[in-house]
Amino acid sequence: IIELKNISKNFGEQQVLRGIDLNIYENEFLTLLGPSGCGKTTILRIIGGFEEPSNGQVLVSGKDISKIPPYKREINTVFQKYALFPFLNVYDNIAFGLNLKKTDKNIIDKKVKRMLELVGLKGYEKRDVTSLSGGQQQRVAIARALVNEPKILLLDEPLGALDAKLRKDMQTELKKIQKEVGITFIFVTHDQEEALTMSDTIVVMNDGVIQQIGTPIDIYNEPQNRFVAEFIGESN
Ligand code: ATP
Repeated sequence: IIELKNISKNFGEQQVLRGIDLNIYENEFLTLLGPSGCGKTTILRIIGGFEEPSNGQVLVSGKDISKIPPYKREINTVFQKYALFPFLNVYDNIAFGLNLKKTDKNIIDKKVKRMLELVGLKGYEKRDVTSLSGGQQQRVAIARALVNEPKILLLDEPLGALDAKLRKDMQTELKKIQKEVGITFIFVTHDQEEALTMSDTIVVMNDGVIQQIGTPIDIYNEPQNRFVAEFIGESN
């Protein structure tokens, strides 16, 4: 459903993306994997509409979306830092966007409750978000991003701030949520193990260029070049 066609991005003299071609399909869990600074976040920002490509096109269902502002793209984002509203409780954090759109209260209630169940936070409605653990706050952020039923969720190192054990649990859970909701996830990480565990498709990047696209098994067993072999072979 998303096609990136020959996307380049320059910041001043620096060329951050060079000719990115990529197709992303419906209900796919696609991971952008690569070292810090290789341009992963910039790709997300271009898809989300927060950054314009210097060259190339982003098509969604065959249509150029360059003129469509971020809030109309049916795309939401989850960041490493949860960016919740500290003065609102769990329920109101999740309901925030729907309240803004003046959605019917009963519909909001139904949707928020479904989300709480999906992310395993039933019973936490009235809790102050600042009293929650990092993992719980990230679940609230995920629920808030999914509640208005976007087609695509962009996740920028969403598990980066969690400790190792929680991170493992959340990997399994996120994958389950993605399949249950039936949505496209575009996930950014520099952690090869995380990418191998969670993804349908992995896009290995280095220095603004795609090095290889494939399933975790392909990437692991048949790295196409030395960079991929070494990057996948490294352990954290
Ligand atoms: P990380 O894992 O560290 O977030 P990344 O692969 O996501 O890295 P990007 O955040 O896309 O990489 O950044 C790629 C390069 O572009 C970096 O060198 C960064 O300094 C530069 N860059 C990103 N945004 C801007 C900006 N708004 N202005 C200038 N340079 C930028």
